[in-house]
Amino acid sequence: MILYIVKKESDLGSLIDKLSSKGARYRVVELYGRRLVIAWPDSIAEGIEDPSVEAKIKTGKQYPLASREWKRETTVVNVGGVEIGRERIVVAAGPCSVEDEELMIDISRRLKSLGVSIIRGGAFKPRTSPYSFQGLREKGLKILRRVFEETGLPIVSEMMDPRDAALFKEYVDMIQIGARNSQNFALLREVGKMGKPVLLKRGFGNTVDEWLSSAEYILSEGNGSVVICERGIRSFETGTRFTLDVGGIALAKRLTHLPVCADPSHPAGRRDLVAPLALAAIASGADALLIEVHPHPEKALSDSEQQLDIAGFSALMERLRSIARAVGRDL
Ligand code: PEP
Ligand code: MN
Repeated sequence: MILYIVKKESDLGSLIDKLSSKGARYRVVELYGRRLVIAWPDSIAEGIEDPSVEAKIKTGKQYPLASREWKRETTVVNVGGVEIGRERIVVAAGPCSVEDEELMIDISRRLKSLGVSIIRGGAFKPRTSPYSFQGLREKGLKILRRVFEETGLPIVSEMMDPRDAALFKEYVDMIQIGARNSQNFALLREVGKMGKPVLLKRGFGNTVDEWLSSAEYILSEGNGSVVICERGIRSFETGTRFTLDVGGIALAKRLTHLPVCADPSHPAGRRDLVAPLALAAIASGADALLIEVHPHPEKALSDSEQQLDIAGFSALMERLRSIARAVGRDL
């Protein structure tokens, strides 16, 4: 694929005419204040010159917009004033599911005092069984809005259906795309159009290239506020359920300018492995963490085996700080 960076004020007409008259396909995207034209196949697009073109980049990747090949500096994604992608590692935490208002506000206040800057909580839950708790849905989103009003902390929550876009626009600051929907292309396009920051989980059967191609769907709609999130992939190892791919985190950091988050809660599904996985994720270059914390994990309505309690989370934050310092970052 060929990516043309086009001069700011120039007229795209003649470049587009050349591309279409030669039979190339193309897409025009405005991203990070730049005008970009992606064109293919290379055999045609490569030879085209035009005065409107400032730079022309040939990439062998399926994800030209997400690639560092044209944008070397890491993108900073602003989630309600919290910046992901800078030296400071951002921690998002909260229960797996939103369960009730009082619990949610109380735990969010405590998490804030421990250095958490984004609150998580699922209102629409992707459960393996249709008989498991499915989430409080709209009521859950309203509770999350109350949490924001009480704590001032931005909210991340999972959206599963494009038909819920209006609700998510109103109530949350960052939209989570879950592992199971990582290649739900209609949903990816929809969150691309919504323009809100997106936390894109890696599908547990997806390669790093496929994960970045999913991000490309969102970027190609003109939404550059994407944070990609490693949450464990299926491997032959069953002892850890999913394998947190730290090599994948390090590789993704090299391939894409998008900030990379890691979720140490969902890979193993075991409370005692959350801390070591979180520490490894920071050491391998993650820019943010998404961690499940519940005031009484044993009573949680979902993922009770893996959620940390407040004391466990507080101890982890201390250890994360020293690893962050050791790799030249802050937390
Ligand atoms: C979650 O974050 O609660 C969740 C369901 O994660 P994943 O999509 O990674 O399984
Ligand atoms: Mn969960």
